[in-house]
Amino acid sequence: MIKLANRLKSARPSPTLALNAKAKALAAKGADVVSFAAGEPDFDTPTNIKDAIKGALDSGFTKYTATGGIPELKAAIVDKLKAENKLEYSPEQVLVSVGAKHSLYNIFQALLSPGDEVIIFSPYWVSYPDMVRLADGEPVIVETSAHNNWAPDPSQLRKALTPRTRAVILNSPSNPTGGVYSKETLLAIAEAVRGHDCLLVSDDIYERLLYVDGGFQNIANVAPDLASRTVVVNGFSKAYAMTGLRLGYAAGPKELIAGMQMVQDQSTSNPTSVVQKGAVAGLKGPQEPLFAMVKEYAKRRIVMADGLSKIAGVKCPRPDGAFYCFADVGELIGKSYKDQTITGSLKLSELLLEDFLLAAVPGEPFGADGYLRFSFATSQAIIEKGLARLAEFASKVS
Ligand code: PMP
Ligand code: GLU
Repeated sequence: MIKLANRLKSARPSPTLALNAKAKALAAKGADVVSFAAGEPDFDTPTNIKDAIKGALDSGFTKYTATGGIPELKAAIVDKLKAENKLEYSPEQVLVSVGAKHSLYNIFQALLSPGDEVIIFSPYWVSYPDMVRLADGEPVIVETSAHNNWAPDPSQLRKALTPRTRAVILNSPSNPTGGVYSKETLLAIAEAVRGHDCLLVSDDIYERLLYVDGGFQNIANVAPDLASRTVVVNGFSKAYAMTGLRLGYAAGPKELIAGMQMVQDQSTSNPTSVVQKGAVAGLKGPQEPLFAMVKEYAKRRIVMADGLSKIAGVKCPRPDGAFYCFADVGELIGKSYKDQTITGSLKLSELLLEDFLLAAVPGEPFGADGYLRFSFATSQAIIEKGLARLAEFASKVS
């Protein structure tokens, strides 16, 4: 028997990826699966990005690059952050990695020593606590509630901050809730952390996917005095429909970025050379394909959220951002389907996949049992088909 590292004992594989893989495997076998599992755009990658990647391949751009990204891409990221986010960085403050997930992983590897704490608002994206644990850190969970549109409560945050707090993770628009932090919420978070020497990790991966007025803003925008201890994380997966191409980046304090670069130097080296060229084309090229995708998500969001709310035992207000409906299915929990008790969201998700070929991610690994996450990054026809299956299931629950 091979004895594995102790740090693996407290982590678990990504449940979102696992369910997505299970749904894809069933579909590959010919099953008529409707999957709301993946946080993955169904749109194709924009043509100009694909052309740039093909061009780079044909011209032999297939060798190692600088670990942290090619200068051209770093410059394009610096320009994007300045023009769109009103944030100023030098190229040494930017590190390009193999997806935003990798950027986050590098942050915790570079930042944490055993026992250091990271504050995470729940419901949270499934990977945050495990990434912290894999870096020997301790996730400290602060709950938020649907009644408050998932906005963190500053007094709860204050209670959770300790001398061991090394970072607070902010994710707006949020996966899984779709919640968007208002300026007031961001200002209240800023006020709460001001007296504490901790890093702010702003995971902005869904910044483009907003369905409310006011535009995108993060903590460094509303509290410029905290910009020097904020690391912004973003990537190409969602905005440019490039999930499988794996490219993300972080921009933040020089010392942190240098530490992350060292971790990356000794693990993956550079992100894929040709994909970096595609990302340059994405950032510098026409942004219309993005706007078209967002327009379509906005329509689907209404079909999905309103359709869910019509189903007995399901409640789901329209989310303000991202492409997830985080539906309250609490009324179904504890009830029975056939001869089985629906003990929680894991059981519910299992029954839906097994009996109705419907994949929805259980809320439990997001820290919110009693909820199911439905991604609407899929066509309206599929959304309607999936909703019909859920309604049929709900009609059989007693
Ligand atoms: N942050 C959040 C909140 C996410 O939902 C995801 C998953 N798409 C990521 C980061 C990582 O994205 P990627 O690694 O594909 O860039
Ligand atoms: N972040 C996406 C999701 O939540 C992709 C899966 C993953 O990286 O865990 O579905």
